[in-house]
Amino acid sequence: MMDLVLPDKAHDEGRQGEALMLETAVTKNGRKLYIESYGCAMNFSDSEIVASILLDQGFETTNDYTIADAIFINTCSIRENAEVRVRNRLKEFKVAKQRNPGMVVGVLGCMAERLKAKFLEEEKLVDLVVGPDAYRDLPNLIEQADGGQRSVNVLLSREETYADISPVRLNTNGINAFVSIMRGCDNMCSFCVVPFTRGRERSRDAISIVKECTDLFNEGYREVTLLGQNVDSYKFTPPQPSPEERGLAEQIGQSKVLPEGEDLGGVAIINFANLLEMVAQINPELRVRFSTSHPKDITDEVLYTIKKYANICKYIHLPIQSGSTRVLDIMNRTYTREWYMNRIDAIRRIMPGCAVSTDVITGFCSETEEEHAETLSMMDYVKFDFAYMFMYSERPGTLAAKRYADDIPEDVKARRLNEVIAKQREHAHLRLLNKIGTIQKVLIEGYSKKSANDYCGRSDENSMVIFPVDERYKPGQYVNVLAERCTTATLMGVIVD
Ligand code: SAM
Ligand code: SF4
Repeated sequence: MMDLVLPDKAHDEGRQGEALMLETAVTKNGRKLYIESYGCAMNFSDSEIVASILLDQGFETTNDYTIADAIFINTCSIRENAEVRVRNRLKEFKVAKQRNPGMVVGVLGCMAERLKAKFLEEEKLVDLVVGPDAYRDLPNLIEQADGGQRSVNVLLSREETYADISPVRLNTNGINAFVSIMRGCDNMCSFCVVPFTRGRERSRDAISIVKECTDLFNEGYREVTLLGQNVDSYKFTPPQPSPEERGLAEQIGQSKVLPEGEDLGGVAIINFANLLEMVAQINPELRVRFSTSHPKDITDEVLYTIKKYANICKYIHLPIQSGSTRVLDIMNRTYTREWYMNRIDAIRRIMPGCAVSTDVITGFCSETEEEHAETLSMMDYVKFDFAYMFMYSERPGTLAAKRYADDIPEDVKARRLNEVIAKQREHAHLRLLNKIGTIQKVLIEGYSKKSANDYCGRSDENSMVIFPVDERYKPGQYVNVLAERCTTATLMGVIVD
């Protein structure tokens, strides 16, 4: 596989296909749910909504699909290899279902939406096909499947945000949580299947977001990552108060956020900067991250808000995709090379130490060697801290599939990808080398995978940091770590008081 993913949270390669479990299960009807997730953080977050809906129906989670009564696979369509992975996994589930014919097998998420009823024909073992906006219908669909009826619900919605559903946290460390703030995407980048699989963009009620983050903090969580395909276009209009309520709000000098978080007192529109501020104000001990920012939409207002709050992490994921204005144009990204550089300059001016990561696609339709070189020179300009790097994978139904030939040979795409990866490694290493000798505020996430004598955690700027365990500090606490050395992806150091 040619995709390379460096450590980050939004798409954690280590979590692909992870079976998601609730720590303590309460059995009501004794039926066991096995749920496996692929793709981006949004899918993992959606699986927590699905689990919440099904736990209400009396299901309990299991991490052994062979004994499950219902197997759900939450799928990703972003590149062809993501779909191949899922199809291979379905073959393994087939064997389990042959042993236990009463088992319900369901495909959820983007592949369900893309392939719809075709799934029932192609993959004979699938009982349910459920798109990302139809999870509330799952209890009903499962009942139909129990009665022997295979069904599909892939209706996309303009309103569904699952705002009222409290996601159960699966496989949680009790410290970091994802919080979905919007769904869908209206951008229509020509390579991307997301607008077709996840529908129109809609923002979730800000009050429900603040409440979910407050609840998480009160349960001991110390970091929330606000999720959306394009967080900068978050926009929520709160229910407007009556003139009497408005008068009262003015009389008591009410600002944007009331302590109870119940009423926003006449605020007309809440944008992403306002939302960030509202979440940051929950508690200074709650770290706030977000993903993904879009270069065309990220505003200076957002940058100044990040700067203003010490607990909003100084880290921005700003996908470039290509360094060539012509390629960006046919990608329909609606910004130029110069525009992207201007946004980077603004970040550096407003927050000099802020980390920036990106996504890069190599070998997009008609990309020339010179245009590829422009991507490399853009990388030299920014020196990204992390990057997700992919070869272009044509997705049926997208604008690019309809309009442009996928004409860059696979070996050329792969060679260009390798050049991008090599450059990124250098830059990531350089960024970490520059941190040696500095003190990083790290949120301890747990023990290092390699040694129980070491803790691991992330710095404000999202670097993975490893340091010896000090019994005075526990996971979920912040420590100051003196960075002493590094690999290409990890800082190593010691706690300093
Ligand atoms: N909304 C985010 C944005 O606009 O930056 C990205 C969402 S997408 C789930 C994550 C990344 O997958 C994209 O930024 C892009 O680099 C990559 N991607 C999407 N479609 C692709 C395709 N057809 N081939 C290769 N990579 C693709
Ligand atoms: Fe896809 Fe573009 Fe929307 Fe990101 S912004 S999800 S790349 S269409």
